[in-house]
Amino acid sequence: MNARPDAHQIWMGPLSPIAEGGLARPRIGIGGISIESSTFSPHVSGDEAFTVRTGAELRAYYPFLDAGRELADAAEWVPLVHGRSLPGGAVDPGTYRRMKDAIVAGIREQGPFDGFFFDIHGAMSVIGMVDAEGDLARAVRNALGPDTLISTSMDLHGNVSEALRDEVDLLTCYRMAPHEDWLNTKERAVHSLLARLRGADGGDPLRRRPLKAWVPVPVLLPGEKTSTRLEPARGIYAQLPEIEKLDGVVDASVWIGYAWADEPRCQAYVVVTGDDREVITRESERVARMFWDAREDFVFVAETATLDGALAKALSADAARPYVISDSGDNPTAGGAGDVTWTLGELLERTELVDGTRMTLVASIFDSEAVAAAVQAGVGETVTLTAGARVDDGPRGPLQITGQIFSITDGDLDAGTQVVIAVGGLHTIITQRRKPFHRLDDFRMLGLDPENADIVVVKIGYLEPELYDLAADWTLALTPGGVDQDLLRLGHRHLAAGVYPFDPAGSPALTAVVGRRGEESHAC
Ligand SMILES: [Zn+2]
Repeated sequence: MNARPDAHQIWMGPLSPIAEGGLARPRIGIGGISIESSTFSPHVSGDEAFTVRTGAELRAYYPFLDAGRELADAAEWVPLVHGRSLPGGAVDPGTYRRMKDAIVAGIREQGPFDGFFFDIHGAMSVIGMVDAEGDLARAVRNALGPDTLISTSMDLHGNVSEALRDEVDLLTCYRMAPHEDWLNTKERAVHSLLARLRGADGGDPLRRRPLKAWVPVPVLLPGEKTSTRLEPARGIYAQLPEIEKLDGVVDASVWIGYAWADEPRCQAYVVVTGDDREVITRESERVARMFWDAREDFVFVAETATLDGALAKALSADAARPYVISDSGDNPTAGGAGDVTWTLGELLERTELVDGTRMTLVASIFDSEAVAAAVQAGVGETVTLTAGARVDDGPRGPLQITGQIFSITDGDLDAGTQVVIAVGGLHTIITQRRKPFHRLDDFRMLGLDPENADIVVVKIGYLEPELYDLAADWTLALTPGGVDQDLLRLGHRHLAAGVYPFDPAGSPALTAVVGRRGEESHAC
């Protein structure tokens, strides 16, 4: 969930002067698709999942292109089409094709372009495909032609396949998880693109293209082990600005990769771009080695336990309150369906939670039919609802819940109508549509008081700031679902050979593949 940041968070310095032979006001197209989608979630992300921006609305999505900013006037910007979705299940192939066709048509109708800002996440799974961004990059490149410089902005949970690498010229990704620098990263991609276009090329478009040193690192870790606030990720990411200060380097980036798709491209990557072949090769291989050597040191950002273990702590006499339990396997902001019933089923079977001696809040499951039935019954009525597991029936199917309707709230943009059903002190939120619960107001608007609850259970991974502040204590529960944090029990079958921890005995060479797009060979 990204808020629009304040202007002061935008950090790039002034553009370099226009060199002789450089382009004073290049034409730059903008387009892309941004989603991370789990192939382990049965949820399908269709047209309704995407916000598609075009034209002025798309340009306004990038405040660094607002009128008056240096970048705004440094190019003729041509915003085409961009689709963005919350994380979810794999994308419907028709939905993908429609967005891709719209981007390609925009390029053909409004080109030619000197540059292209390719704004993607990098972990889009499309049903029937194994490298959606590689496919999209190829289509964009074919439409643009060979001379257009493509600069790509990505999430560090994206993957850099060979196809993607070969079609674009510049690649960068976030350096912070949580992604506080999401907009800075997009600005950096645009800034680097302009710098290349303004530089001298002597009339030779090939010279504008930087060299790329690309090193796949066969390690695949869940996001909850790779927060850049903690070592070893913090130290690895701290290398990048230092590398960029070296002569002959344009950008240095590290991708953690996306753990919840079963595709051969899913692993970590290091890419350093620039003009000095020796330096970018050396630095990319050095950081890749650092990552590989640290692979066993990545640990969960919080105490983890099974749900039973988390409940034992939350129910103990001296437990701090409110005690927050993260139901991490079905986290909708990582791609979980959001209607896995396993955890709620376990809670309903606990006498201590339903006997009225404690206040427990559970956020949430979505089920439009259960919501409709509750609305028909009305607040205060006792009903039996069948809820959840319509998308992901997981280890438990739909649940029968008999309880009293505590509240009904209409009109939430994400959730639609929301119902709270109380079974003793166990208050479960059922929403019409999928919604992540990150803020205390998400609870308060339903008449719930999280600060005075004993236990709060949320489908989330690491706690978002308000929940983190709420929690007197908390446990990341390793629950089942489409984004199960226990990767080894998910059953990946299509990863590349030797990826840790699936294959703990690997010993990769970690040799950079170095080249410039269009050169005869990509080999070093
Ligand atoms: Zn991410």
